[in-house]
Amino acid sequence: MRIFVTGGAGFIGSHLCRAAVAEGHAVDVMDNLSTGSRDNVADLIPNPIFQLIIADGSDQSLVNSLVSKADAVVHLAAAVGVQLVIDDPVRTLETNIDVTQGVLKACRDLGKRVLIASSSEVYGRGSQEWFRETDDLVIGPPTSRRWGYAASKLVDEFLALAYHYEHELPVTVLRLFNTVGPGQVGHYGMVIPRFVRRALLGEAITVYGDGEQRRTFTGVDQVVKAILQLIECRESIGKIVNVGGTAETSINDLASAVIRATKSKSVIEHIPYEKAYGESFEDMRRRNPDTKALKDLLGWAPHSDLNAILGPVIEDMRKRLKKEGVLS
Ligand code: UDP
Repeated sequence: MRIFVTGGAGFIGSHLCRAAVAEGHAVDVMDNLSTGSRDNVADLIPNPIFQLIIADGSDQSLVNSLVSKADAVVHLAAAVGVQLVIDDPVRTLETNIDVTQGVLKACRDLGKRVLIASSSEVYGRGSQEWFRETDDLVIGPPTSRRWGYAASKLVDEFLALAYHYEHELPVTVLRLFNTVGPGQVGHYGMVIPRFVRRALLGEAITVYGDGEQRRTFTGVDQVVKAILQLIECRESIGKIVNVGGTAETSINDLASAVIRATKSKSVIEHIPYEKAYGESFEDMRRRNPDTKALKDLLGWAPHSDLNAILGPVIEDMRKRLKKEGVLS
């Protein structure tokens, strides 16, 4: 196959490209390097079946041309990370809605298989133990900027299913849960690289709120394996699928696990959300996927073995800190 990956130089995208190339697929990436980087795919650039095009997703003629050459499209390009969403709400909304619409239109016009990345953020304030794709979605008011991200991803989902309904677009919507692995950076909010970095540097680990909020973390290797299989899974067309692991962790337990795994002397410090994100911030107490739909489609779902996930992240962060000259 020839796969067109938007946002392919980002964290999940670069892992997806690597796995696709390893399976012998040709890969074209379009990325504006806003949160992604050339470094993420540096090892793939010399490979003749891989192509990185640095351009913005708003370049519709380029999108059309790359879609026309592809057998399948995976649309990952988005403004991501809680911190970025809070700091840069206009860019978040515009990128997440306009670029997705452009990709969907091109795929409709050219009749291409497409996977659209959405997010577990759409589950918003829901309080179920395990979220199902058919659950009602409750998000907070627009005065809290965080919800703009969920709303933008939800518009993407509605658009994708509308194109499927009206134009038989062969689309699948992926609701990605917290995904973790080497190469992820903490500047946009992601908790695990932040904790690992601080633990390795012996700095205080800052847990927001009471730390009893819970998440399911999934290794990126498992997530990209699921994405590659879903491309070829015709039964997933026209559906929304949770992609995530099967075990939850509180952020307090995560902080302790990171300290243990890094043998760090860091202390855990609890700080109020307002201090971390400003006044109107609202966090989810719990966010875990029901993975039945994924299991029914693929015959398996990712595991959430925290130690297996943390190992490669710690190794990678150690290397990065040494390169930065802040760790000996
Ligand atoms: N978090 C934290 N300290 C940090 C970064 C995040 O305690 O330095 C918490 C955050 O409030 C949330 C959880 O860790 O409850 C996961 O945060 P992340 O931004 O990784 O993903 P989210 O699930 O919020 O999208």
